[in-house]
Amino acid sequence: MSMTWDDLDRLRPANEWRLPLPPTCKKCSYNLTGLPEERCPECGTPFTWREVRKRVARVWGLTLRLRYANEDARTGLIMALSGWFSIGFGHLVGGGFILGIMKIIAFLAGLMAVILGSQVLNVRRVPAWARVYICKPPPSMTLGVVTIVLALSLFFGALIF
Ligand SMILES: [Zn+2]
Repeated sequence: MSMTWDDLDRLRPANEWRLPLPPTCKKCSYNLTGLPEERCPECGTPFTWREVRKRVARVWGLTLRLRYANEDARTGLIMALSGWFSIGFGHLVGGGFILGIMKIIAFLAGLMAVILGSQVLNVRRVPAWARVYICKPPPSMTLGVVTIVLALSLFFGALIF
């Protein structure tokens, strides 16, 4: 006989908590730490520790993937700026073949920048109470949007200029 994760889960003390995020009520986000009764004292919603653990573990997984979202967006921003410099440089050296190469580089930089900038947008999938646990400062939506807009402008820049 082998034990499944659920079996192991049932053997644990009911309110043992090992996740770095606090257990919260699914309805009102009240911190349920150490409660003897399986009912939210704030809004009265009943809960089971298994359900809470499963839900918060999922949220924790999301926060881990977002940990470097700001750094990614900043890298994307630098790439997008470099893309514009490449186009400028291509013009400076007189266009032609070099400009063509520079536009291809700019286009690829724009593509990377869109991907890197859009990581931040996933923060919307993390409930508000858990966002402070991602990183300090929390992922910046503004940074992501600026990166994406600048990256998209590169596509037009590469085609038009
Ligand atoms: Zn509640």
